[in-house]
Amino acid sequence: MPIYEFRCKNCKKVFEVLFRSRDENLKIFCPGCRSEKTEKIFSVFGSKMEKGMSSSDVPPCAATCKQFS
Ligand SMILES: [Zn+2]
Repeated sequence: MPIYEFRCKNCKKVFEVLFRSRDENLKIFCPGCRSEKTEKIFSVFGSKMEKGMSSSDVPPCAATCKQFS
């Protein structure tokens, strides 16, 4: 199961969401402020590209992304 990291555009909180098989289209709520204004940052387990993306589309910023939050 992939884990995606999201950042809340409202309060800048970064949080991880564990997706089951077909949960791609679920609305992601910020656990801090309950805002829907979240953006996906990167996939921890990005090797499984189900949407036709190549691995190069995902920035290798596992550590550095959090510095912008
Ligand atoms: Zn928030």
